[in-house]
Amino acid sequence: MTHLRRPAVVLAAALAASFLAAPGPATADRADTARVNEKHVIAISVDGLNPRALNRLGRTGAPNLNRLIRDEGAGTVNARTQLEMTLTLPNHTSMVTGRRIKASKGGHGVTWNDDTVTKTVQQAAGHEVDSVFTQVHEAGGTTAVYATKSKFWLFERSWPKAVDKNVIQVEKNAAVVKALRSDLASDPATFSFVHLGRPDQIGHRDGWMTPTYLKAVAQVDKLVGSIMAQVESTPSLRNNTVIVLTSDHGGIPGTRNHGIRTNREDYRVAFAFWGAGVPHADLYALNPDRAKPGRTRPGFGASPQPIRNGEIANVSLDILGIGPVPDSLWDRDQDLAWK
Ligand SMILES: [Zn+2]
Repeated sequence: MTHLRRPAVVLAAALAASFLAAPGPATADRADTARVNEKHVIAISVDGLNPRALNRLGRTGAPNLNRLIRDEGAGTVNARTQLEMTLTLPNHTSMVTGRRIKASKGGHGVTWNDDTVTKTVQQAAGHEVDSVFTQVHEAGGTTAVYATKSKFWLFERSWPKAVDKNVIQVEKNAAVVKALRSDLASDPATFSFVHLGRPDQIGHRDGWMTPTYLKAVAQVDKLVGSIMAQVESTPSLRNNTVIVLTSDHGGIPGTRNHGIRTNREDYRVAFAFWGAGVPHADLYALNPDRAKPGRTRPGFGASPQPIRNGEIANVSLDILGIGPVPDSLWDRDQDLAWK
């Protein structure tokens, strides 16, 4: 069991709760006492996926993403990124911590987007920061990261005891999926995080929504399809595995840029569940506690909130039967419905 330093106020609250709960069943701190259930979660982030690509490629060019998001799963193509930045590492850190970005507002503080900064998330935030990895690990589960950019070393560096396996193959999308599929067949982690970077890589090189960008999305579509096929063909996974898919940001058609956080092409992303127990549904129809944002960019004060990419940490923990990441923001009540 990993010992985690927690803010004193949380300890005090937990202590108070345990007095209040006594002498009945232990309900004081779900995150510390719950054990993971028998399920598996595979979280997939398609880096730089502008949902327009799903329409442009159609069901012929992107059969698997369309299947997952629109035809079989519970999905939407109108979720939102983080508000402060539409950049890769800050958004992915929100996905695994459930926090916003800005450190002075309780965010994780990761505002850089390369691998020249060697700080941890905790150093960026200025205090302890837990994650989906620490929660799964504490609850007796295992975790794995499969990523295609070197900056993703941040996760293992920040949670060395909670990231059990870390596969980073720079710009090798097929290789990381091969490693994942091999692990799924033999010894699947409770929680796997997969980052597929090719659409972003080609978007920066040739421009978003260009023919080569669309080809990159089609390539990733095949890889996502191979993960779905692996789940379906593995008896120990078929009936208890949920794939959760989203993106860190989109990208502006015809440009090589996705850094304008107020541009809808950048802040609109897909968010979808697929797998055991997941109905075929529009994710907003399944979630009256979330509001379709239309073309807008709702702020922190909006109520209800739109579905956001940062919800992936706490909803994954919810699927696994354990409580939210301490001091997180997105889906902290774990009320995002996935079934
Ligand atoms: Zn990028």
